[in-house]
Amino acid sequence: MDLKQHIRSIPDFPKPGVMFRDISTLLRDADAWQVALGRLARAVAPGRPDLLAGVESRGFLLAAPLASKLGCGFVMLRKPGKLPGRTVSLTYELEYGSDSLHIQEDAIEPGQRVVVVDDLLATGGTLAAAIKLLQKVGADVVASAVLIELGFLNGRSKLGIPVTALVRYD
Ligand code: 5GP
Repeated sequence: MDLKQHIRSIPDFPKPGVMFRDISTLLRDADAWQVALGRLARAVAPGRPDLLAGVESRGFLLAAPLASKLGCGFVMLRKPGKLPGRTVSLTYELEYGSDSLHIQEDAIEPGQRVVVVDDLLATGGTLAAAIKLLQKVGADVVASAVLIELGFLNGRSKLGIPVTALVRYD
């Protein structure tokens, strides 16, 4: 199945000049959704993760069912102000301004093998921050997996770990 055909491209979202790759059309097609999860599971399984970490919010849509499929735990990397209890955070630069990701301080046991999951890899800023944050709390981040990679931005060069992407735009 060509998963790209299930991704809708919406021009000028969220701002003029940006071509947004919309995964809603893939998620609402039961077969495409199953195929995507199956392919991600096959790519991620050899890394023998203990946990999958999802990046809020579309990363959760993939990481949680994938973790369940693989029989591993699931950990949330969230935007500020969402997680209860003690958290650890990391701030990263965006094109305009900055953002931060948070994780619960006790989410990872030292040395646990973690695969970090998001819907899309663009510049790599988000996943690079996610990886650093996971490492800060003691994770062994073994790989990363995304549905979509914008290859022309070469975000994977920022990550320093293997990246699986099911669909690529060049
Ligand atoms: P990066 O930090 O790699 O530049 O951007 C990746 C982040 O932005 C991801 O968390 C992703 O959800 C979001 N993102 C940026 N552009 C798109 C897009 O075209 N489609 C989707 N679905 N997400 C995007």
